[in-house]
Amino acid sequence: MADTATTGAAAPSKLGAAYPIEDHTYDVLVVGAGGAGLRAVVGCSEAGLRTACITKVFPTRSHTVAAQGGVAASLGNMGEDTWQWHMYDTVKGSDWLGDQDAIEYLVRNAPAAVYELEHWGVPFSRTEDGKIYQRPFGGMTTHFGKGTAQRTCAAADRTGHAMLHTLYGAALKHKAEFFVEYFAIDLIMDEEGRCRGVVALKLDDGTLHRFRAHLTVLATGGYGRAYFSATSAHTCTGDGGGMVLRAGLPLQDMEFVQFHPTGIYGSGCLITEGARGEGGYLTNSEGERFMERYAPSAKDLASRDVVSRSITMEIREGRGVGKNKDHAFLHLDHLDPAILHERLPGISESAKIFAGVDLTREPIPILPTVHYNMGGIPTNYFGEVLDKRKGDPDTVVPGLMAIGEAACVSVHGANRLGSNSLIDLVVFGRAAGLRAAELVKPGEKHNPLPADSAELPLSRLDAARYAKGSTPTAELRLSMQKVMQDNCAVFRTGEVLEEGKKLIHDVFDHASDVGVSDRGLIWNSDLMETLEFQNLIGQAVVTMESAANRKESRGAHAREDYPDRDDVNWMKHTLAYFDSKTGAVRLDDRPVHTYTLSSDIQYIEPKKRVY
Ligand SMILES: Cc1cc2nc3c(=O)[nH]c(=O)nc-3n(C[C@H](O)[C@H](O)[C@H](O)COP(=O)(O)OP(=O)(O)OC[C@H]3O[C@@H](n4cnc5c(N)ncnc54)[C@H](O)[C@@H]3O)c2cc1C
Repeated sequence: MADTATTGAAAPSKLGAAYPIEDHTYDVLVVGAGGAGLRAVVGCSEAGLRTACITKVFPTRSHTVAAQGGVAASLGNMGEDTWQWHMYDTVKGSDWLGDQDAIEYLVRNAPAAVYELEHWGVPFSRTEDGKIYQRPFGGMTTHFGKGTAQRTCAAADRTGHAMLHTLYGAALKHKAEFFVEYFAIDLIMDEEGRCRGVVALKLDDGTLHRFRAHLTVLATGGYGRAYFSATSAHTCTGDGGGMVLRAGLPLQDMEFVQFHPTGIYGSGCLITEGARGEGGYLTNSEGERFMERYAPSAKDLASRDVVSRSITMEIREGRGVGKNKDHAFLHLDHLDPAILHERLPGISESAKIFAGVDLTREPIPILPTVHYNMGGIPTNYFGEVLDKRKGDPDTVVPGLMAIGEAACVSVHGANRLGSNSLIDLVVFGRAAGLRAAELVKPGEKHNPLPADSAELPLSRLDAARYAKGSTPTAELRLSMQKVMQDNCAVFRTGEVLEEGKKLIHDVFDHASDVGVSDRGLIWNSDLMETLEFQNLIGQAVVTMESAANRKESRGAHAREDYPDRDDVNWMKHTLAYFDSKTGAVRLDDRPVHTYTLSSDIQYIEPKKRVY
């Protein structure tokens, strides 16, 4: 049941009178019920903390459900493996932008996190002798780059589905309370810069709710929908990042946007990297297996940025397939149909529905498609949000945490390896729970909230609800997505990015002319999409500006005018602040953590990244 204790806040303003608010008080509030949010809910509840989880979609509809290929951990079930090799691969995959203390934390805790999932009931695929099945994935090697690792634990090609449902079951065993179809609008920040909770709109009845907590954990996922073609769900609108920008806090490394090599041409629907892990390969219009030229040893299993760039190069040089020579083929037709049926049943269906292809007989038309945001809300490996207050880049923002794709820990640096996100969700979801247990005492008293605690969310909500401009939100969103797709894609140049800056700022300016047609509050999808657009456009603007600013090529950020990585000048994280009134961006940076967590492993020195 909802706790309706009074807040001690001042008398309602005019807006407050128009929008009565119901108050809820908890020890911890988790915003988001994807893999990261649910794992944090379990941890916080286990620690005896009164925990609420609010989510705009039903928990098992979070984007984690769509994850296909698997979750990385050095179990060594199908050949030798160690966490040190996993660490090396992740550092190299990140193109030396990842923080090595956080990466050590991730890979060392990965095996235990997978066994925990197994014990909670994830129905992993099995080897002959009953162990968790592990498949090869891009960039995952043994002996520090020399062999191919089988490290990615899979439940057929529905690993995210299995994980999310299991995690939801685990969360329900605890006392946590779920607020389903509640849309968090903005953070409540006090004068001292501490986060005190959020204000949310209950979508099905239009009521407003103020959630007060000692600790707010943002687990709101990525912002893939800033782009036109994305594998992510339409709900991936980066709401947590939007809230953080409006609170005057920075986002980190936003220029690093991962394109998955194999989105189905046209729909953008994902064909998992597991397809290449099981033996699939790419060809161009000449039928050539072109990856052999770009990555002679890893070939089709080079890391994602490398494969996406190679496909783009083939298309640019006139060797694309199809009528317009604008995509490539992925072959699985040489594999045993029984294996395809057993290991990749989901994508067999996707290929049929979205490409009209029977993959046992024909190749699948594919194109690199936006898939993952390496950038996000900067945190340390406890999940605590960081700001560069008073010059210290590792200053913690009290009361605020971020985990999962919304966060930038940073373990993925400039490029995430496939299957390293699902493991990031559970390892750092757990870390956030452990940290919460240290920071908050169950039932601890709450200080009064600032008098204007609901001002920002209510004024935004009210302005959007009555917006009378002439441009529908859908039109603004489409122009933003087109600009990002055209001007901030796989290959970038100074000229294209400068033009992109102008164009994306034009979209931002044009947003003042937004028109919302439905004035109601009950299931007003036009209103909700307007609030989501506001979250997206802030992140689109800082992504473009961060990309224009970084004059080197690293990981997913490939500049034709600066083709090399430049560790002297650019081995640093970008921080981007955004003025949501004017659209102005201020850029700053943080040093990369060039130290490990323990003396069990040495700092991995930068070298050229070849596969
Ligand atoms: C098609 C696809 C396949 C993938 N396959 C793999 C894979 O095989 N292996 C791998 O490691 N990674 C994979 N990834 C990446 C990985 O799945 C995601 O990065 C990860 O699932 C994100 O999880 P999350 O918990 O951070 O957020 P999500 O699962 O996206 O959940 C976000 C949650 O936040 C809530 N929320 C958002 N905004 C609000 C708001 N304003 N108010 C209230 N609630 C809000 C949502 O309701 C939702 O519950 C894949 C991604 C895609 C798109």
